[in-house]
Amino acid sequence: MTTKISGSAKRILVTGGAGFIGSHLCERLLEQGNEVLCVDNFFTGRRRNVVKLFDYAGFELLRHDVTFPLYAEVDEIYNLACPASPVHYQFDPVQTTKTSVVGAINMLGLAKRLKIPVFQASTSEVYGDPHVHPQTEDYWGNVNPIGPRSCYDEGKRCAETLFFDYYRQHGVKIKVIRIFNTYGPNMHPADGRVVSNFIVQALKGEDITIYGDGLQTRSFCYVDDLVRGFMAMMAGPDDFTGPMNLGNPGEFTMMQLAEQVIELTGSKSQIVYRPLPQDDPRQRQPNIDQARERFGWEPEVPLREGLKKTIAYFDGLLKE
Ligand code: NAD
Ligand code: UDP
Ligand code: UDP
Repeated sequence: MTTKISGSAKRILVTGGAGFIGSHLCERLLEQGNEVLCVDNFFTGRRRNVVKLFDYAGFELLRHDVTFPLYAEVDEIYNLACPASPVHYQFDPVQTTKTSVVGAINMLGLAKRLKIPVFQASTSEVYGDPHVHPQTEDYWGNVNPIGPRSCYDEGKRCAETLFFDYYRQHGVKIKVIRIFNTYGPNMHPADGRVVSNFIVQALKGEDITIYGDGLQTRSFCYVDDLVRGFMAMMAGPDDFTGPMNLGNPGEFTMMQLAEQVIELTGSKSQIVYRPLPQDDPRQRQPNIDQARERFGWEPEVPLREGLKKTIAYFDGLLKE
């Protein structure tokens, strides 16, 4: 399908656009008739996630690391570049912090020069191992500054600081979203996050690895719901900066997740227990009142339905 760029179409930069969430965002933006410049260094992103997007005349792909300056002429920026899975962001922790911090400076510098809005993919990890439950945006968090997760958590916290300082000091239009655990097609099979791990293990008939006792909780949002929330935020009023939580408040233990994956795949896999990683948050659930009230945003895809779609994706991938 080739889209004609209409008069109201925008040229939109998506950093991290070849990654899991970024590839879905690029596709939605193209479907709406926009031009998309996808920028990615392919650390965790993959060409296969975006190859079908070349069917759109308005799609461009640039291999570039956001820790270096980028001079482009665009109308909006979505800054998603950053490995998101603990396995990947701990592989080169110094590069992870640089990506969040220097990447934010470069994207904010670009937005400042062009006087355009810039969206930041922040994370529920800014709340760390939270003492407030569910997490509201005014909670400051409980984060270890020197642990193995800190490169990601503190990098993202510092990026938020930069976004708000560019807003206050330079009047840059910022849109900060705190994303809670999201899953769906295009996740990397070796991503290391729990949904992809459990599904790949179940489909291969391998043991399902629960870390710790499996009673820790997470709230899982299907990627289509999340991307709809991103676009509502970008289209929202200039004076609404966030930070705003986006996620699905349905809270599940890792044990419940493992059981659902086994049931939906019909797998004979056994559950095995592995040590809990250091600083692994015990509980996580978003309070999404802000997103509901401002944008009427609500996740629509129940975990079971989202898991079925994700299982179908990985099933196809493993058969290739
Ligand atoms: P992902 O790893 O699939 O995607 C990240 C993308 O960024 C990859 O394509 C990677 O190659 C690219 N990238 C990494 N470092 C880069 C650099 N220096 N320069 C250019 N590109 C770089 O992860 P994802 O799940 O799609 O996450 C996207 C964004 O959303 C990240 O910023 C992440 O922190 C945030 N987020 C995701 C979740 C989630 O549950 N998936 C939760 C909270 C926040
Ligand atoms: N920058 C960029 N593209 C631009 C403008 C700026 O990548 O179009 C980067 C550049 O590396 C710069 C950073 O953004 O250092 C921050 O820009 P800012 O204008 O805040 O600061 P300065 O130019 O004074 O360093
Ligand atoms: N987890 C697990 N088995 C796995 C991978 C992860 O039990 O194979 C656990 C992990 O310890 C954490 C939860 O699942 O408690 C979510 O982990 P993930 O890495 O997906 O996300 P995050 O910890 O960043 O929320």
